[in-house]
Amino acid sequence: MTEKIHTIESDLVRQSAATLASAIRQGDVTSEQVTAAHLDRIEQVDPAVHAFLYVNREQSLGRAREVDRGIAEGKISSPLAGVPIALKDLLATKGIPTTCGSRILEGWRPPYNATIVERLEAAGVVSLGKTNMDEFAMGSSTEHSGYGPTRNPWDLERIPGGSGGGSAAAVASFQSPLAIGTDTGGSIRQPAAVTGTVGVKPTYGGVSRYGIVALASSLDQAGPCARDVMDTALLHSIIAGHDPRDSTSINSPVPDVIQAALSADVRQMKIGVIKQLQGEGFQRGVLERFNAALDLLAGLGAEIIEVSCEHFQYALGAYYLILPSEASSNLARFDGMRFGIRRGDDGSNSVEQVMSATREAGFGAEVKRRIMLGTYALSSGYYDAYYGQAQKIRTLITRDFESAFSHVDVLVSPTAPTTAFKIGEKLDDPLAMYLNDIATIPVNLAGNCAMSLPIGLAPEDGLPVGLQIIAPAMADDRLYRVGSALEAALVDQWGGLLIEEAPAL
Ligand code: GLN
Repeated sequence: MTEKIHTIESDLVRQSAATLASAIRQGDVTSEQVTAAHLDRIEQVDPAVHAFLYVNREQSLGRAREVDRGIAEGKISSPLAGVPIALKDLLATKGIPTTCGSRILEGWRPPYNATIVERLEAAGVVSLGKTNMDEFAMGSSTEHSGYGPTRNPWDLERIPGGSGGGSAAAVASFQSPLAIGTDTGGSIRQPAAVTGTVGVKPTYGGVSRYGIVALASSLDQAGPCARDVMDTALLHSIIAGHDPRDSTSINSPVPDVIQAALSADVRQMKIGVIKQLQGEGFQRGVLERFNAALDLLAGLGAEIIEVSCEHFQYALGAYYLILPSEASSNLARFDGMRFGIRRGDDGSNSVEQVMSATREAGFGAEVKRRIMLGTYALSSGYYDAYYGQAQKIRTLITRDFESAFSHVDVLVSPTAPTTAFKIGEKLDDPLAMYLNDIATIPVNLAGNCAMSLPIGLAPEDGLPVGLQIIAPAMADDRLYRVGSALEAALVDQWGGLLIEEAPAL
């Protein structure tokens, strides 16, 4: 027994969430010890990675001790009880700073918790802190954060993806076994792809949006980030499910993602390869890994079929009208009157001048760009030509998915067209930045679900590549079935998870 404690204690931060939870349940280790080990790791590596915007050691340890008591008294019993987690700073956390990566919200402490935060607390999952992100989740590199960029643990000169680069980097650098991200156009999946981790965007309405600061309400969805498929499933099962406080929350049973992850079986499954999401614009090594993964899936007994989704070529254009339109409206609430900073309030200025000075000082360049795009697209005279047209494209993309899913069970593509690029490389070129989400955006427009799974390193740069698995709305279980089957085959090949190859920091 003593020996067992020593083995698990010596590298607590490298264990999966499932292993940690079972060790805590069996009394081999306490949540306090597990939490302390991760807080030590954060102190050690986060000065280089900058995954976190907020960590409060005493608060996390205090909560871990409470959870230890709850477990001992039989009051907390969930499959992840006692395990630490990192939360994207877009989630409202009661009394704890919530900035959304923006200077405009500096100092704001929400008076309530997001539903996800409440569910995690009830399940005894212990928060380590809040993670860095592109300002208001706009971006693909975390460079648009008002608090400085996060770095990719595989190569500190490179981006960890975005907007949820902090959450992905925290998991990839063993600072946390679990994280929550949000995905409006790819912000869980693309960071997962470029950091060699697993990320899932659940079905729209599958996870409550209550208490998640809105970017584009018809696209936003929070979801799980972890280092393997089973941990992702366990976290998914805790945060998903109906919430009467979110009007778009789906009131039907959550698909059994844990059972699906356990089944890991793709025999007889039909897997569609999206014709439009390969070839031009995709890095050679990304396609090489992608094709190797398809061969593996075929070897496991799946039938691989090419599928055409004709309207996907318009997805990026439609998204960059719909998202800025909704964002410009959602972000109107940040006016210096209710939340965060206020500028120019010295008695000499009108209310409008104070609002304008606050927004000028508080918002970064990308947020301003999108507010201008959105207000323009929604203005009278242009509404039909831009926003209206974009909504029609959205319908056509949804129909492409419907027709594809009438003859395949899941669709696959590379998650991102390239591996992690260098910090600064695309910062001054918004269009190049937007193109990172070419493969992920159609899923948000249609509202269905998708996973990014690590499938190897690109030979030309040695950086992680992700495979995207897409399933119909409310068939999230299929992601886990295919993901875990492919993961098991890859683990056999490599002798472990890809993330174990990441350089020690
Ligand atoms: N990168 C995309 C954007 O900039 C997606 C953002 C997201 O999913 N939050 O809009």
